[in-house]
Amino acid sequence: MRSAVSGPRVLLKRLREVMAESLGAQERLDKIVTDIAANMVAEVCSVYVLRADNVLELFATEGLNPSAVHEASLRVGQGLVGTIASTARPLNLEEAQSHPAFAYLPETGEEIFNSFLGVPILRSGRSLGVLVVQNKSKRAYRDDEVEALETVAMVLAELIAAGELEGLNRQGTGLDLSRPVQLNGDSLTEGLGLGYVVLHEPRVVVTNLFNEDADVEIDALRSALKRLRISIDDLLERGDVATDGEHREVLEAYRMFANDRGWVRRMEEAIINGLTAEAAVEKVQSDNRARMMRQQDPYLRERLHDFDDLAYRLLRELVGKPHGPIAEEIPGDCIVVARNMGAAELLDYSSENLRGLVLEEGTPTSHVVIVARALGIPVVGQVGNIISQADIGNAIIVDGDDGIVHLRPAADVETAYAEKVRFRARRQAEFDELRELPARTIDDQDVELSINAGLAMDLPQLEQSGADGIGLFRTELQFMVASHFPRPGEQEELYREIIDTAGHRPVTFRTLDIGGDKVLPYGQAIYEENPALGWRAIRLSIDRPGLIRMQIRSLMKAAAGRNLRVMLPMVTEVREALVVRRIIDREVGILTKFGYQLPKTLKLGAMIEVPSLMWQLDELFAVVDFVSVGSNDLFQFVMASDRGNPRIASRFDPLSRAFLRLLHKIIQKAEEHDKPVTLCGEMAGRPLAAMALIGLGYRSLSMAPSSVGPVKAMVRALDVRKLSKVFLVELAKPAGDQTMREILADFADQHGIPC
Ligand code: PEP
Ligand code: MG
Repeated sequence: MRSAVSGPRVLLKRLREVMAESLGAQERLDKIVTDIAANMVAEVCSVYVLRADNVLELFATEGLNPSAVHEASLRVGQGLVGTIASTARPLNLEEAQSHPAFAYLPETGEEIFNSFLGVPILRSGRSLGVLVVQNKSKRAYRDDEVEALETVAMVLAELIAAGELEGLNRQGTGLDLSRPVQLNGDSLTEGLGLGYVVLHEPRVVVTNLFNEDADVEIDALRSALKRLRISIDDLLERGDVATDGEHREVLEAYRMFANDRGWVRRMEEAIINGLTAEAAVEKVQSDNRARMMRQQDPYLRERLHDFDDLAYRLLRELVGKPHGPIAEEIPGDCIVVARNMGAAELLDYSSENLRGLVLEEGTPTSHVVIVARALGIPVVGQVGNIISQADIGNAIIVDGDDGIVHLRPAADVETAYAEKVRFRARRQAEFDELRELPARTIDDQDVELSINAGLAMDLPQLEQSGADGIGLFRTELQFMVASHFPRPGEQEELYREIIDTAGHRPVTFRTLDIGGDKVLPYGQAIYEENPALGWRAIRLSIDRPGLIRMQIRSLMKAAAGRNLRVMLPMVTEVREALVVRRIIDREVGILTKFGYQLPKTLKLGAMIEVPSLMWQLDELFAVVDFVSVGSNDLFQFVMASDRGNPRIASRFDPLSRAFLRLLHKIIQKAEEHDKPVTLCGEMAGRPLAAMALIGLGYRSLSMAPSSVGPVKAMVRALDVRKLSKVFLVELAKPAGDQTMREILADFADQHGIPC
């Protein structure tokens, strides 16, 4: 074998010529294998390409039986070639036949060859095929020879990714790159979205693979690395490293990796072998991704992710590309695919074009998910390795209802989903027709339907849904999506905008429900064993009264001369509401003293979310002007069932007798005290549950804007007297079966109520 130091450079130069020639795809591939074999003094050089059916097909060979081309094939995981593809790792063997995975393919006539070197053809860490050289003599290939073959494999990866080899295979199956893939994740926001992939961090397309002068490229790499290191140091030195969502820890890891000798050496070796600086970064990044995809340990995976991010930054440094997708490249129906992203970054995409979001990470409480929910966009999270499988412009379906993503869907899947979307649009059109009609039952009972909101961007939905008001405004969302603590002026501005837009419709502002798991990006995270039961919401407000004072003052100023409703989250003891009452009284005094106009009326309410209030209802109603049942939290505390844990999500039913009896007691007590009650948890937005609530006596429900239509359709078809006759009698019976879902569903069916 010739020296690999000059060998690969000569070979890459030759391959560049082959790529530039006007040849058919098969002819080009044949020439490539001949050139590799000659350059590496190997008797055999073969290329196997991965098909959509997970089979590796021999596409070209020098040295094996030519009639085996497009005939010989191996499944992924089968034989040496299949093992290389499945592990995305090279195999370097002195005596191939003695390897346990060796599989003999008689049509290739390969038994006479002993030594074997195979490398995966990788793109973004994914195996697209395998490149093999073989020799008759027994020998181990040197490290630099392995490195050289990997570099050449990269050229083949680009050829495959460019679609040049599509259609060459005899079987009529497409190549793996175009294969439909179904990926399962977590449903973070409901809904369906059909569109095309936009990678939030688009791959930098390396068009120039072969270098003219290695020294020039090494200089380019070194100076890009220098700029990168300086930019990381700058970020670290800036006091507010959290501004970009980049926490100090991540930046420290970046700095460490940017100085990692092994990383730099591997990139420089690839340049010496003939690649341009950017192609070298991509090659090493791809190897790293392959390791990342195999890595099970979450900590190491995270570190490899950091490396990946860094390589991406370095590539952008080298090719001078700005961060993020280019506006002109964003298609009309865009589905953003990202590892994770900040809330503000999602807002950079036009909401008119945005059809969905897919995240490799992401949890229901991520800020970006909260914003997506406010925009009404379906989100699926925890979708492993989607970025390495998706390409810009690929067709994609986001099924936020079931937590499924279909990448490059087959025609029948696409048709089925398109039909689902049309069906939903038709139903939506029906609901739109109800917009101006009252939510009145057949027996003339009026039900107030309001929406839950939390950001200014929710406001248009108030009009569109035809809701009666905002029953729950979650003020913490402004704090959660901001990059800094919202100043009093900013709070006041938002509250004024909300009140102005709502006009005559009432708005109930809930004071900050932060702490526990709702950590502010600029705040200090405090570890708690059970955050849901921890130092959060009203508890935190009482201990840090400056916060709630500032918020109440902003609310009062924003509501000058108008009605103001303030509601407290997570009240556990009546005393807590009294403390806030005193804070309000003090603010009234201060504002009056300084000549500010006060709100026309100010009503104070409490959320019933903690079971302890069930035994203080008389005292509570004596202190507050209204209550709102936060059934999400109340249910989780009553049932001892974490609301965010998918394992137990469907284990207990909010329509169980136990929970419904408890809700019944609240409404009965409220009637006794003549105090208004709303229910603003998720169940209010589900027509069947909303029907049960109306049956219990609830006449005010607050829900996600998209639920107003379906719930109103249910209300308008309901006769409450008839329902109560069946339902309340059943509810009082000693419980046999806990859930009343079936009884309610049967009633709805029998009376033609859409639930
Ligand atoms: C609830 O707990 O039901 C509620 C409406 O509040 P949140 O979902 O914001 O905790
Ligand atoms: Mg709650």
